[in-house]
Amino acid sequence: SSIERWESPDTKHADIEEILYSQDVLKKRIAELGRELSEAYEGQLPLFAGVLTGAFVFFGDLVRAITIPIEVDFVAAHSYGHGMESSGKLDIKKDFRIDPKGREVVLVEDIVDTGLTLNVLSKHIMDRGAKSVSICTLLDKRARRAAPVPNLKFIGFDCPDQFVVGYGIDWAERYRYLPYVGYLRPSVYSKAISEQEPAQDRFREEK
Ligand code: 5GP
Ligand code: MG
Ligand code: MG
Repeated sequence: SSIERWESPDTKHADIEEILYSQDVLKKRIAELGRELSEAYEGQLPLFAGVLTGAFVFFGDLVRAITIPIEVDFVAAHSYGHGMESSGKLDIKKDFRIDPKGREVVLVEDIVDTGLTLNVLSKHIMDRGAKSVSICTLLDKRARRAAPVPNLKFIGFDCPDQFVVGYGIDWAERYRYLPYVGYLRPSVYSKAISEQEPAQDRFREEK
């Protein structure tokens, strides 16, 4: 049977090789980011836009560390599909609900990797008439940058060039609910690739 259960949310999932950023470490850094952002945008009523889906957990914690008035929205843009490589093409699936025209926009992302997603997304927001766009990312994979990401001003952690999951970040839609960021065991994704089947099919019976 594929039914699994573990002790508590803190228990390391069997598919996770190592925890990179624990709940405690995340909490402390996000409190600092909240202070930095609150200072930078005081008196400006910035529009914070979480990039779905990966940033949803980070975004929820980040806005609760803010101590100035802000407005909150979400955008959805996909560049990865179910694989591990950036497609380089951005598909905007959900645009702003709040008009970004004339606003100071803070885009909140999970990971900046090649930078392709945010490069295109920032341009799109400036085209919509935003006054400014700056980016706040939990993780920065600097080593992999292929496109310039202007205004990447708020960074949680410089992340090693390794595939991570958890704290909102998925592999094939899995592991988003883990409360920490960790390395996924290579055996998990190499198995799915070698079996040549969509990864989520392996887990369908668990839903
Ligand atoms: P890029 O900057 O290459 O356009 O795309 C960044 C996006 O790729 C991230 O927001 C995230 O969705 C995905 N990504 C990049 N690195 C990783 C990783 O280590 N793990 C996971 N799960 N997604 C990643
Ligand atoms: Mg993302
Ligand atoms: Mg993804």
